[in-house]
Amino acid sequence: MRGMVWFRRDLRLHDQPALTAACQECDEVIPLFVFDEPLLQSHKFGSACVNFMLGCLGQLASSLADHGVPLQWRRGEPVKHIVRAASDWKADVVYWNRDYEPGAVERDRLAQQQLSQLGVTVRTFKDHVVFEADEVRSATGEPLQRYSAYRARWWTKWHATTPEVQPIPPALAKKKAALLPISRLLPSASELGYDPAVPWIEPGERSAQKRLRWFTKEPIHSYAQSRNLPAIDGSSKLSPHFRFGTLSPRVAIHEALNALAKGGQVSRIGVLTWIDELIWREFFQQVLASFPHVAEGPFRKVAVPPSREPGPEHDSLFQAWCNGQTGYPIVDAGMRQLNQTGWMHNRVRMVVASFLIKDLRIDWQSGERYFMQHLLDADVAANNGNWQWCASTGTDAMRGYRIFNPALQSKKFDQDGAYIRRYVPELARVPAKRIHEPHLMTADEQARAGCRIGTDYPSPIVDHQLARQEYLTLGKQEATR
Ligand SMILES: Cc1cc2nc3c(=O)[nH]c(=O)nc-3n(C[C@H](O)[C@H](O)[C@H](O)COP(=O)(O)OP(=O)(O)OC[C@H]3O[C@@H](n4cnc5c(N)ncnc54)[C@H](O)[C@@H]3O)c2cc1C
Repeated sequence: MRGMVWFRRDLRLHDQPALTAACQECDEVIPLFVFDEPLLQSHKFGSACVNFMLGCLGQLASSLADHGVPLQWRRGEPVKHIVRAASDWKADVVYWNRDYEPGAVERDRLAQQQLSQLGVTVRTFKDHVVFEADEVRSATGEPLQRYSAYRARWWTKWHATTPEVQPIPPALAKKKAALLPISRLLPSASELGYDPAVPWIEPGERSAQKRLRWFTKEPIHSYAQSRNLPAIDGSSKLSPHFRFGTLSPRVAIHEALNALAKGGQVSRIGVLTWIDELIWREFFQQVLASFPHVAEGPFRKVAVPPSREPGPEHDSLFQAWCNGQTGYPIVDAGMRQLNQTGWMHNRVRMVVASFLIKDLRIDWQSGERYFMQHLLDADVAANNGNWQWCASTGTDAMRGYRIFNPALQSKKFDQDGAYIRRYVPELARVPAKRIHEPHLMTADEQARAGCRIGTDYPSPIVDHQLARQEYLTLGKQEATR
C-alpha cells in the first residue's frame, strides 16, 4: 500500500501521529509539503515566521533523506496539489494531522471530499494539542470559557489517560521510497516573496529538543519568578517550535514532569507554572475550534470604549507604536524587540497590547494583525486569544477597568532597565531612577545621559493618566447606553 503524509504544522519525525500511522500501515511512504501560495501572497505572516518555517523544513527534509524517504514539495493552491499528487502518485491513503484554524478546517474538508471522490482514503490525527476541544468539556458537554475550569478538567483528563509519546517510527528507514523524480531544493525566502533573514530562534526539530532539555534541566525551576523578567532568558522560547510542530506538546509535558520526578533541586511551582502556560495554549486552541467566529471579531459583545476614529491622528499614533517611538520605554523596547527579532517577551506583549488598546484607543485587531506579520510564533489561536484577553472581549478576559501602567510595569519587571537599554540604545546612559520615565529628566540630566527628550528620544505621545481616565469614562458611558 502506498501512503502520502501531508506535513503542515508538524515538521518533525518524533511523536508524529500521521507519519507513525503511515509507516505502520503502508509499504511505501511519500512525505509532502505544499507551500500555500494564496496564504504566502496575502502576507498575513511575515519574513520572521517564513524564514523560521523554511529552516524547519530544511531540517525535516534532511532527516527524511537520511531515512531514505525524501520530502517532496509543491507550491500553489494546497487542495489542488494534494489531490493531484495523490492521483499522479497513485496513493491509496493520505495522512495528516488536524489543524483547528477556521481556514485550515475548510481546506481540509475540501481536500478530504475531493480525495474521497478519487477513491483515496483519508486518515487524520490529533497532534497539535494534547487534548482536542471535544475532549475537555464542562459537565454538561459545553466548551469551557473559563481558563480555571478548563485547567482543572485538563488535568483530570491527563491523569485519566496520560497520553503516550511515540518515537521516530522504527519502520521509517525500512520503507521503500516511491520511485518519484528527485525532489528539488526547497525554495528560498526571496523566491517565496519574503526578505531572507537568519531566524533569531534556531529552527528545526534538533534545536527544539536541545532547548527543551536545557530548559527542563535548570531554568524551569525558577520559571515562576523569572518568566516575568524580560531582561533574562527566563522562559523556554519554544513558542515557534510549538507553532510549527518541531516539538510535540506531549513530549514537552512529559519532559517537564520528569524533571519533577527526578527529585533533587526541583521546584514544583516552577514546573507546574510552566505546564499552566501550555494549558493556556490548549485553552486558546479549543476556544478557536469551538467558537471560530473569534478569528473575525470579539468573542462577546461587551461595553468597551469605542476605538479612535480613522484619520491622521490615529495613523500617527499607530505608527509610533509599531516603530517603538511612543516615549514609553518599556513599550518601545518591546516593539523594537519584535521588529528586530520576531519575538517579544510575554509580559511585554501584555504591556504593549494594553497600551495600544487602552492608552491609544486603537482597535485590538490592528495590533493582532501587526503581531501576526512580525512574530516568529505567529499563531491564530494564541494571538487572537491573547489580544482578546487584553481587549477584555475574550472568553476569559482581563477586566475592562484594568489598565497596565507602563512605567509601573517597567519598574517592577525591568528594575534597572537592562531590557530597555538593550533595545532602546538612545537611553543606554540614562540612570536607573529615570529610565522608566526619561521625560522627567532635567535638562542637566539629559545632557549627562546624552539624550535630549523630544530630539534623541520622543516625549510621551499621550499622557498615561489622562488616557486612562478617558478610557474609563468612555467605558462607563458605553455601559450605561
Ligand atoms: C498580545 C499577545 C499576543 C500573543 N501572540 C502569540 C502568538 O501569536 N503565538 C504564541 O505562541 N503565543 C502568543 N502569545 C503568548 C505568549 O506571549 C507566548 O507564547 C510566549 O511569550 C512565548 O514564549 P516562550 O516560548 O518562552 O513561553 P514559555 O513561557 O516558556 O511558555 C511555554 C509555552 O506555552 C505557550 N504559552 C505561553 N504563554 C501563553 C499564552 N499567554 N497563551 C497561549 N500560549 C502560551 C507557548 O506555546 C509557550 O512556548 C501572545 C501573548 C500576548 C499577550
